[in-house]
Amino acid sequence: MKKKFIFTDRYQALGIPYPNPETMCKGPCEGTGFVPCKKDDNAPFRALWSKAEKKHPSDDGWHFVKCPDCNGIGKRKEVIFDDKTKT
Ligand SMILES: [Zn+2]
Repeated sequence: MKKKFIFTDRYQALGIPYPNPETMCKGPCEGTGFVPCKKDDNAPFRALWSKAEKKHPSDDGWHFVKCPDCNGIGKRKEVIFDDKTKT
């Protein structure tokens, strides 16, 4: 039997709210802060996958790894910086 992925989208799959298009990360995470990857993905995801696999071996070969662009925050760096400077 083939394995089926029945996610409607990754926001529902992760149970997180839809990102604000004004502030969301422009990297591969699309505002979620995490990127799904598998063993044979290209760098840097191959290395991130191996790290995740060492910690918690995956049942289906997939891991959600922290986005290398925003480090798992899901927002653009300049937005994060702006937030910190506001009082
Ligand atoms: Zn990101």
